[in-house]
Amino acid sequence: TELSTMILDRIRDVPDYPKPGVLFKDITPLLADPVTMAAVVDELAGLHEVDKIVGIEARGFILAAPVAYRAAAGFVPVRKKGKLPAATLAESYDLEYGSATIEVHSDAFDPGDRVLIVDDVLATGGTAQAAVELVGRAGGTVVGIAVLMELAFLKGRERLNGVQVHSLVIV
Ligand code: IMP
Repeated sequence: TELSTMILDRIRDVPDYPKPGVLFKDITPLLADPVTMAAVVDELAGLHEVDKIVGIEARGFILAAPVAYRAAAGFVPVRKKGKLPAATLAESYDLEYGSATIEVHSDAFDPGDRVLIVDDVLATGGTAQAAVELVGRAGGTVVGIAVLMELAFLKGRERLNGVQVHSLVIV
């Protein structure tokens, strides 16, 4: 589609970042383009009727906040361990080396809240899977996950069984 072409043209491949052998997808050119950014935000805001938009630290925040505004929904941050000030729930997941922990405020959702999770890139799906778990434990109902770009060769979608995954671009 036209939107996916606009997005693809504005995501930059950075070789060997953050470590040798990794081809990093850099979304900063897209963020700097107001026309593409507005089209992306409108598209993401129209996916589902929701009460809350969850953004995953840190690039997920940049997308999720304007989507929440556009969708007239609340914004909820999912952050790396130790960053949220009040009582939290935590979820850990495996990385290639070691593990990571993300958190959400325990009182972030009202019972029955419909929630869309937003991030920039879906890679192995570990982060998204942990976020789904976290939102569910905190009392939200996940209606979908939306990302700008899905790296299909990492098969993240397969870890997200039963959750609707919306990728504006699949590479
Ligand atoms: P996953 O948990 O392996 O799916 O990795 C997804 C998380 O890592 C997301 O929060 C992304 O922001 C980040 N990530 C992984 N690969 C990339 C990339 O190439 N560009 C930007 N972010 C990435």
